[in-house]
Amino acid sequence: MQQRSDGRTPDQVRPISFELNIAPHATGSVLVAMGNTRVICGVTVEETVPRWMKEQGVTGGWLTSEYSMLPYSTTTRKPRDISKGRLDGRSTEIQRLIGRSLRAVVNLEKLGPRTMWVDCDVLQADGGTRTAAITGASLAVALACRKIAEAKKVDAPPIKKLVAAVSAGILDGRAIVDLNYEEDKAVTVDFNVVATEDGEFVEVQGSGEEATFAQDELDQMMTLARKGIADLIAVQRAVLARIMVSPVQG
Ligand code: UDP
Repeated sequence: MQQRSDGRTPDQVRPISFELNIAPHATGSVLVAMGNTRVICGVTVEETVPRWMKEQGVTGGWLTSEYSMLPYSTTTRKPRDISKGRLDGRSTEIQRLIGRSLRAVVNLEKLGPRTMWVDCDVLQADGGTRTAAITGASLAVALACRKIAEAKKVDAPPIKKLVAAVSAGILDGRAIVDLNYEEDKAVTVDFNVVATEDGEFVEVQGSGEEATFAQDELDQMMTLARKGIADLIAVQRAVLARIMVSPVQG
C-alpha cells in the first residue's frame, strides 16, 4: 500500500491516547490525542433538566454539548466566539453533532432528572477535531456515568455502549481514513462517520468539495471508517479495562 505524507497506510488511524481525569472538578474528563489533534473533554452532571423538558412533561434526563477551539489551538490565533459576540456556524454544527452522538449511547431515562454537559475544547487542531471530540467524550461520559453510579445517584452507569468517530476522504482517487489538516485541505471528498461498539452507525456526514464521488469511492470510505472506528473502540475498551482493576484512578 502506498504511504501517506506522515507515513501512514490509507487504512491507518493516527496514534491515539487518552489521559483520564485531567479536570478533577468535572464528573468525568479526558484529554484525547489523535496524532497532533488534542481535545479536552469534560463532563459535568447537573441535578436539573432543561425547561422545555419540564414544560413538555418529558421524563428522564438530557445530554448536551458545547465545542470550541481555544485561541492558541490553531497556527494563527483564533479569537474566542465571545469576543465576536456570537457562536460561529461551524461550532454550532459540531456541538450538535457531538450531542447527538452521545445521546445515542446514554440511557436518558436511567440518567434521571439530570443534565450531562459535554464540553469539548480543542487544545491543538490538526484536522478531525470533531471526530476526536466524540471519541474522547465517549470515555469522559463513561467515567461520569460510573461516578454517579458509585455515588448511588443511579442504580447502574446509564451508558449503553461506547461510541467513536473518524473522518475519511478521497485523496488522488483513493480512500484514506483519519485525515490530518494537510490531507483535509487536499481531499476532494470529506466524510465524518460516527458509530458504536456494536458497529451501528449514529451519523454519516459526507460531501464532495467542488467534486463528486462514485459509489465505489463511497464504499471504500465507509469500509475504512468502520475499521478505523473499530480500532479506536478497541483502545477505548483497553483504557476502561485498565481502570476497572484500579479503582483509585477511576
Ligand atoms: N481549522 C483551523 N481554523 C478554523 C477551523 C479549522 O485551523 O477556524 C483547521 C483545524 O486544523 C481543523 C481543520 O482545519 O482541525 C479541519 O476543519 P474542519 O472544519 O473540517 O473540522 P474538523 O476536521 O476539525 O472536525
